[in-house]
Amino acid sequence: MSVDADIVWRGDAGYEEARVARLFNARRPDRFPGGVLVAQSENDVIAGVRLARERRLKVSVRAGGHSWAAWSLRDDALLIDLGAMREMTFDPDTGIATARPAVKGGAELAPFLSRHGRVFTGGHCPGVGLGGFLLQGGQGWNSRRHGWACENVVGIDVVTADGELVRANESQNADLLWAARGAGPGFFGVVTRFHLRTFPRPAAMTHDTWMFELDDLEALLEWIDGLLPELDRMVEPVIAATRLPRPEGPPVLLLHTTAMCESEAEADHVLAPLAACPIADRAISHERGPTTIEQENEAQALQNPEGHRYGVDCTWTDARARELAPLLRDLWSELPTEHSFSIWYGWAPARPLPDMAFSVEGRAYIATYAIWSDPADDERHRDWVVRHTERLAALGKGVYLGDTDFTHRPDRFLSEANFGRLEEIRGRRDPDRLFCSYLIREGAELNAEPMRRPSTASRR
Ligand SMILES: Cc1cc2nc3c(=O)[nH]c(=O)nc-3n(C[C@H](O)[C@H](O)[C@H](O)COP(=O)(O)OP(=O)(O)OC[C@H]3O[C@@H](n4cnc5c(N)ncnc54)[C@H](O)[C@@H]3O)c2cc1C
Repeated sequence: MSVDADIVWRGDAGYEEARVARLFNARRPDRFPGGVLVAQSENDVIAGVRLARERRLKVSVRAGGHSWAAWSLRDDALLIDLGAMREMTFDPDTGIATARPAVKGGAELAPFLSRHGRVFTGGHCPGVGLGGFLLQGGQGWNSRRHGWACENVVGIDVVTADGELVRANESQNADLLWAARGAGPGFFGVVTRFHLRTFPRPAAMTHDTWMFELDDLEALLEWIDGLLPELDRMVEPVIAATRLPRPEGPPVLLLHTTAMCESEAEADHVLAPLAACPIADRAISHERGPTTIEQENEAQALQNPEGHRYGVDCTWTDARARELAPLLRDLWSELPTEHSFSIWYGWAPARPLPDMAFSVEGRAYIATYAIWSDPADDERHRDWVVRHTERLAALGKGVYLGDTDFTHRPDRFLSEANFGRLEEIRGRRDPDRLFCSYLIREGAELNAEPMRRPSTASRR
């Protein structure tokens, strides 16, 4: 088969570069694919899948390379790397865009769509690839209003486990589309193109940003948590604990909200509840003004620098401010490095999700990112993230695949019913288990009910 020549096999010159050069996390796991195929076209993907089947190799996939846990690296598999396939199209009559999975949602798709006066619910960080992002759900700009980014995937082109290229949408191969909206790295096919619903570019994107001392955590969280149900879904409130604005001092709390509005008057209206902040007199600073997705992306890229080592974990929770605050105070006061940060992202009120694999969310999303440079710190920082998130997960409902590493805690990420349906579809679509699927700790139960430990909130 001709594609064989384009595969860098283990032991070949260039193997190590092909294995890890496109991974965002500089902490590279010791997992070694049998070979890496850098696909230039759909035909290469088809040939790669068929070759893997012939040689009894499993298949793993890489799009943007941003998975924190480096899910694309699987021992002995044929890794199909989609990094060389990058086209995007836009149809002004339908508002539908298409993009290859390795296209970066913020750095590439956003400016492309902007030239057409459109936006997509792309990731907060500009470098994230659409492939992993969309398959696992996709928490992007304006998600409280327009939903998970995968809800705006109207079709996919997929190379199936049989090595056939098919289109999946609501009217054909609908089971594949259902699975592709939430299965994440457990998807059983190679998506070669996404078809995406886009939205008009908002005329007035506005941010409202307060900075507080860590001492104000309880009052701040109590206030914003209570406000959530009445905040317009256009408003996206995040409290971030970070050292970046003041590297030498203790961490600060940024309450950063964005609203993508049609006019300044609308922005004033939906952001008005934030003006009534009960601890306004204690704020270190407060700013409100125009912003753009590009500016917000830039700020995210500064917080998540390239070439660093990352340890990341998360939980969804319905727990209220009073229960969470002591745990968050312990966590947030210990941010270990200048770039490390942790967020509470207000997600409520719940809205009914469409019928798709993605099915676990909660009132708030808590995610923590330890970011460092020295390999000698790997274990210490990684343990710090996992230990603190485990305490929060005791009050949790499950995890979001995007900030998860199942080799540590394979908590629930799909409802039991949807997990069952996903496995049923896998059984039909990939009966021989050609695709690697989820990477979990040996012997661990996948999609397990979050561990109910006694609340550690009272330990302080
Ligand atoms: C700096 C940074 C910021 C982030 N910010 C956000 C954010 O704002 N919102 C959010 O939701 N997530 C965010 N994430 C998480 C990110 O979305 C996930 O890690 C996602 O998996 C990255 O997608 P990727 O294609 O770049 O990664 P990859 O590592 O290439 O892909 C991850 C896995 O997804 C599967 N996959 C990818 N593409 C395909 C395909 N075409 N066909 C079949 N399977 C495929 C494969 O199993 C692959 O190993 C962030 C990550 C980083 C590093």
